[in-house]
Order: sequence, then structure tokens, then C-alpha cells
Amino acid sequence: MAVVRWDAAQAAAALAAAALVLQQQALEQQPFLLVGGQQLAPYAHSPQSRAILQLPGVDVVFIMGRIRPAQIGSHRPSYINAVLIQSRGVRPVRPCVQCTNRLSPFPECRHKPGHFGGACGNCKWPDRGSHCSLWTADINEEEDVVELSSDDDDDLQIIPVGAAAQNPIQL
Ligand SMILES: [Zn+2]
Ligand SMILES: [Zn+2]
Repeated sequence: MAVVRWDAAQAAAALAAAALVLQQQALEQQPFLLVGGQQLAPYAHSPQSRAILQLPGVDVVFIMGRIRPAQIGSHRPSYINAVLIQSRGVRPVRPCVQCTNRLSPFPECRHKPGHFGGACGNCKWPDRGSHCSLWTADINEEEDVVELSSDDDDDLQIIPVGAAAQNPIQL
């Protein structure tokens, strides 16, 4: 009769491996936004958005249920720019104070120095970039400002890239 010897070290290693697989599965089940390429081009309207959009990016994971398609579809600049920050950004040495307290909607604090004041995507999402502890006010970047030339009146015309200035497409 074969005797199977209980090997504590081996059992622990097997458990650890199983835990790792579970962790990996949990990670793989995290929903993500396919935005590593130029998918957000139709949503990036400001010069700041277009500048960060041009950088190489990755797809963006988010916490289940925290982002709805309609929110991206709303074109709200803080949503779009938050996703772009997550996609183009890096992990700071330490997460910002706000993310340390509560991570949402993204499971990771990421920021892109030189863009949006270096604020992280989680703070940018509710348009609170200037409250992010990573925010650096000396970078001359304002929130999305649509610049109007001096002879513009109150009628805001959005001129898509490629449209001639004298023949704008009115949205
Ligand atoms: Zn953060
Ligand atoms: Zn932050």
C-alpha cells in the first residue's frame, strides 16, 4: 500500500499557487475599456485631450459597476480625460491621498505627469483633478477650456479636426 506523506511545505506551495490562479482569474474578470488605441478620438474635443490621446496607451481596467457605457457616451470631459490618464499614465511612486482612502472607479492610481496637472484618473473622473495630492499647479494646464477667438459671440461652435475654420460643422 502506497503511503502519501503529508508534506507541509509542498501543501503550502500548492495552496499559494492556487491562490495565485484565483487572483489572476479575478484580475482577468475585471472589466476593461478598450481604449489603448485611438478609440476615444471621437470623444477627445479639447487640445489637452487630443494631446494625451496621441501618446501610446493601454486598455483600462475599472471596478465592476463603477463605469457605465452611457457615462463614456456622454462625452463629459472629466470622464474621457480620466480614462485617457489611466490609459496613457503610469503608477506614481505612491498612490495619491484620495486613492489611498478610496479607489474608484479605477482599481489603480495612475497619472500622467505633464497632463492635467499630473492628477490621477480617479480624481479626474469626478472633475476633482485639482484636489488630487499629485496635482502640481505650476504646470500651466487648465481644465478643459474651449477657447473662443475674440470675435466669437455667445454661439459656441465646435470645429471638428479636419473641418475648415470658415466652414465649421455645427453640432
Ligand atoms: Zn489617485
Ligand atoms: Zn488622485
